[in-house]
Amino acid sequence: MRIANLSGRACLVAGSPGTERAIEISVASGGRFSSSFDELYDQWDQVQRWGGDLDPDAAARLGIPIDRALLGPPSPSPSQVFAIGLNYDQHAAESGFEVPADLPPTFTKYVSSFTGPDSVVELPAGGQIDWEVELVAVIGRRASAVSEAEAWSHVAGLTLGQDLSDRGSQFLGPAPQFSLAKSFAGFSPQGPWLVTPDELSDPDDVEIGCRLDGAEVQKARTRQLIFPVSALVARLSRIVTLWPGDVIFTGTPAGVGMGCTPPRFVECGSRLDSWAEGIGELHQTFVNSPTPTSRQPSE
Ligand code: ZN
Repeated sequence: MRIANLSGRACLVAGSPGTERAIEISVASGGRFSSSFDELYDQWDQVQRWGGDLDPDAAARLGIPIDRALLGPPSPSPSQVFAIGLNYDQHAAESGFEVPADLPPTFTKYVSSFTGPDSVVELPAGGQIDWEVELVAVIGRRASAVSEAEAWSHVAGLTLGQDLSDRGSQFLGPAPQFSLAKSFAGFSPQGPWLVTPDELSDPDDVEIGCRLDGAEVQKARTRQLIFPVSALVARLSRIVTLWPGDVIFTGTPAGVGMGCTPPRFVECGSRLDSWAEGIGELHQTFVNSPTPTSRQPSE
């Protein structure tokens, strides 16, 4: 099953790449489920069972063609957002850090930075904006102290995200400022939709990558994750309770601009295209912010 956020309504997606169609969950389910995302993930077990019996071709015939400009993030109002650092060997190396032993560095991306898959991102004045393509997991069932073996059954599905990051703000102060530096408006594009794990040939081995102005800069397979999705759900849920709809950015592979010699960042007019095998694509373009953001250098 694939679930899109179309103008804020939860829609079932059917059809093949490039010709997908969408139908509201409330219509497709004959009123059994609401198309509100506030309810969708809370009822995920029932939605999943219903989806298992669905005929996608019949749903596709009833659906309308998808206007990508109307797509929003597949979980638009999570209670919690987790973002994982240093979760690929080569990215840890290019960042100059040791590989984490048991608990990877974890920060948040504030929900105000969320957008759908296709967007124009305003560059904060004076910023050094970097790309980080990432597999994103959405929680479908409350998880507290779950084992790695149980973890996948708590995941509603996967989507694709960019953890856009202003390296300027991130490393400006005496301690790294991950969460804010990665939460400027538009810095968390996600989509194009949620894909349930059963739709993927191996949800633990998905190719992800991105191209900057047409040239490939990142490409990896998620089997290279140091802490795969199941390990992240297990480790996070040892400490916090994960709620339905919660979003986990699982970390980026090597190839970010900060790791280039000399460092490289997106510019006004840059185009960033990201992909995840079996999930879909994101498309970002960048423009200068019309209103310069003020920065207080040493507070
Ligand atoms: Zn990241």
